[in-house]
Amino acid sequence: MGEMYHEIARLLTAAHKCSALTGAGISAESGIATFRSKGGLWDTYDPAVYASIDVFNQDPSKYWTIRGDFIRNYNDYTPNSAHRALAELERMGILRCVITQNIDGLHRKAGSGNVIEIHGSLREIYCLKCHRRYIAPDVPEGTPPYCSCGGILKPDTVLFGEQLPEDALIKAREESMSCSAMLVIGTSAAVQPAASLPYLAQQHGAKIIEINIEPAFPGADYCITEKAGIALPEIVQQIRSMG
Ligand code: NAD
Repeated sequence: MGEMYHEIARLLTAAHKCSALTGAGISAESGIATFRSKGGLWDTYDPAVYASIDVFNQDPSKYWTIRGDFIRNYNDYTPNSAHRALAELERMGILRCVITQNIDGLHRKAGSGNVIEIHGSLREIYCLKCHRRYIAPDVPEGTPPYCSCGGILKPDTVLFGEQLPEDALIKAREESMSCSAMLVIGTSAAVQPAASLPYLAQQHGAKIIEINIEPAFPGADYCITEKAGIALPEIVQQIRSMG
């Protein structure tokens, strides 16, 4: 394993542009449940029911019922060593951007500057009627919660069946097509279009380095079967030791 870390460190240092694609697994060590891994949220709740825009429009109380079991208050969670290692790789001039499927805001809290949140963020909720925005709120009272104007509140995240924010998707595709190495961390690669980004990167010549306790990307050039919170600091350490 030590030799593989060394090779990856060499690859990342030599690559002219590196990007990272992250999923729920990178935040597992911050205490946020993943969706699909064993014991994950979706063992208990069907996302097609609880996290789809159609159902939200018909009965928003379903979403707000499970929201507290998923991520309670935006400010309750702190980045772990994996988020911090990615921020450090950016400061070292190695990582150009983090494309994340996560909605927990932990990459920004860890200090990453260039974060593309393709599924939006729980940092804000907004009123469907008057469009007032509430920044980094506690989960409001009520299932569903209402704005003072009487409108229903919705998180600023992409629910199943909703379009991804176009700017973010365009940027994510551009970064994928122009990087020469991509770290793919803690994602089951089951949700499109995020799952196609490593393939896009690979088609354009990038090497793929997967970090996952249960690898999900069979085409990866390198695969570290390890917790992100252990593997990423080790990569940073290897790069530092190369001087
Ligand atoms: P997923 O739940 O489908 O898969 C999680 C992956 O992380 C699995 O492959 C698992 O093996 C791996 N994993 C678990 N713990 C790990 C660890 N410590 N280190 C490395 N890997 C680990 O997640 P997904 O692919 O991101 O798709 C889920 C969707 O749900 C995304 O669209 C995302 O928006 C959303 N989601 C977000 C959060 C969050 O914001 N933290 C949490 C759950 C789900």
